[in-house]
Amino acid sequence: MLLCLGLSGCQTLQRVDQSLYQVAEAVSEEDRVTGRRSLSLADRKAQIEAGNAYVEQVIAQEKKAGRGINEQVDKAQYQRLVRVFDRVHRVSHLSQERWQPILIKNEQFNAFTTGGTYIVVFSGLMNSVKDDAELAAVVAHEIAHTVANHAFERRTMSQLTALTGSSSARRSSYQAAFTHENEREADRIGILYCALAGYDPLAASRIWQRKYTEEGNARALFNHDHPVNAERFEEAKTVGDAVKTYYRRDQINPDHAALLENNVLWQKRQGAAAGDGGGLAALLGTALGAYVDHETAKQEEQRQAARSQFVKAVEASLKLEKMTAVEPHLLETRWLYQARQPALQGVVMGIMVKRDDKVLRYVAHVEGLVKPGQVFVARFRLPDDLTVEQLKQLPGKFYLDDALPR
Ligand SMILES: [Zn+2]
Repeated sequence: MLLCLGLSGCQTLQRVDQSLYQVAEAVSEEDRVTGRRSLSLADRKAQIEAGNAYVEQVIAQEKKAGRGINEQVDKAQYQRLVRVFDRVHRVSHLSQERWQPILIKNEQFNAFTTGGTYIVVFSGLMNSVKDDAELAAVVAHEIAHTVANHAFERRTMSQLTALTGSSSARRSSYQAAFTHENEREADRIGILYCALAGYDPLAASRIWQRKYTEEGNARALFNHDHPVNAERFEEAKTVGDAVKTYYRRDQINPDHAALLENNVLWQKRQGAAAGDGGGLAALLGTALGAYVDHETAKQEEQRQAARSQFVKAVEASLKLEKMTAVEPHLLETRWLYQARQPALQGVVMGIMVKRDDKVLRYVAHVEGLVKPGQVFVARFRLPDDLTVEQLKQLPGKFYLDDALPR
């Protein structure tokens, strides 16, 4: 009641509230997944136009280069992609929009979205996934990026900077951390979609487990804009187990629409309607949502920096004692961990070599604990077209891929 005093009655307050709500609508759009508000200035129609324009450029390029798209790349592969894509899209938060997967010829393991109604998948990814469930996991992850508005959130980074008054928001590691959180979010939403569409929700965790086995984490090598493979594997496994209860093999869950709003991962917030205090709540939601994202990204940035610093410090204390070819394609290395650092677990050694202008990386996982003063063995399995003797002739170096203090 006190609130009404300065105004000429509650009627006016309601009107003010209504206009506030419209302002909030203009600067933000309700997060389609959790009901939280994200920062995008663009409305969905403009998003589709902008996002699709980019993909249409890619399509034009592919045609110009004579590679073609979709069936022209591979008819059977494209039909498979469409079949898997349609089932996942049907249970997503944007199933009412007409979407289309695009297949392009590229040997990389990759797929992307630009926030519109296309999902672009590379033929190299189609060849590397082991089954339809793994393909569904990738497609669902990309759909989730668009649903969660990530493509456009990044464009609003400068607004976030203004809002939080933080110049650190411009730093690339911060942006990487911000993206890192987006990746985790897309993983979670995507895994739920898989379960609802009747694809094994643990397929995503299998992809990351395989990546970890083959490529390690490369923790200190790059500025990570994706969560490292081991963490992604563990989280995907936890989420996959949690949503398993919704999974009916090869069948769309009949309750999928209701489950999108309320499930074991999130509950949609029942927002107050406009004119009912919703206007203020909506505006607060925007600022608060940005602030929470900012805090999460800041913490993540610090955590990543501390981890890679630790790995670099440990790496400096490793001494290569011996390397032997136990088999033509099996390189055994012996290392002394000579510093007074803590004991290590999850040690992964890496070797990086340059061959025909390509940088190749191989990793060796070390089982068990490594204590200070201990010698440990790391064995690298090389591919059929590279022997240990050939490897020794190439320019390259060993590195510590990852290690955690125990
Ligand atoms: Zn992603």
